[in-house]
Amino acid sequence: MTAKEIREQYPYLYETHMHTSEGSKCGQCPAAEMVRAYKEAGYAGVMVTDHNWGGNTAVDRNLPWTEWIDKFFMGYHNAKAEGDRLGFPVFLGYEATQGHGHDFLIYGFTLDWMKQHPELKTAWVPEQLELIHSVGGLVVQAHPYREADYVDEVLTFEQYVDGIEMFNAAHCTVRSDGNDRSIWNEKAVALANANNLPGTAGSDQHNTKLMGGGTAFPTPLKDIQDYIRRIKNNEDHVLTDGKHWYDKKGNLLV
Ligand SMILES: [Zn+2]
Ligand SMILES: [Zn+2]
Repeated sequence: MTAKEIREQYPYLYETHMHTSEGSKCGQCPAAEMVRAYKEAGYAGVMVTDHNWGGNTAVDRNLPWTEWIDKFFMGYHNAKAEGDRLGFPVFLGYEATQGHGHDFLIYGFTLDWMKQHPELKTAWVPEQLELIHSVGGLVVQAHPYREADYVDEVLTFEQYVDGIEMFNAAHCTVRSDGNDRSIWNEKAVALANANNLPGTAGSDQHNTKLMGGGTAFPTPLKDIQDYIRRIKNNEDHVLTDGKHWYDKKGNLLV
């Protein structure tokens, strides 16, 4: 299949991993600008996944729980407002950091539910899965093999997730040593397949210079529950790291 044929068969490309400056300290652009960039680039929608209290969040962790939630999700709220204005779907999520640098993409909760569950703040990975499942949500381990200053040691949590982020487009940018880090994506593909877990792809985008990663479907997502259902059931989708396209098992298509 050519890239053009893939896009024709899977025209609805979603960003599943995106940061805003409202919610993430490392976010370089406000949510509304991010949304406009994605719409212009031809995406079908974005999921806002800012860094939570365990990670590089932009919001004071010492705020009372409900107040923290209101401030933290301003990235999502602003993205949603701009999306509504443009007729561009925006979905709610966050990126949870557990321990030292173990990251998870979380979707499918509501803010009201979250406000009633402050135990999320101290839940370790198994309890996190249990809590998120209790609200019908999805937990995906993000970039399980990334090595970075903020990652103590590489740990995989295949028993406690619904899926694995196979392709993180940020790993495909060439670094100062002249190499990219696609090997981390290749390892994530192997991890998912060895455990029969569905795979996703996203960009880990922190600014409007879009890397082009995402997960694409043949039909549009109705809502975030539709995404969750399709991923949990491993329904028809393809993945891109912004450079290549892959089938849902992570095999290179083009
Ligand atoms: Zn970040
Ligand atoms: Zn991220």
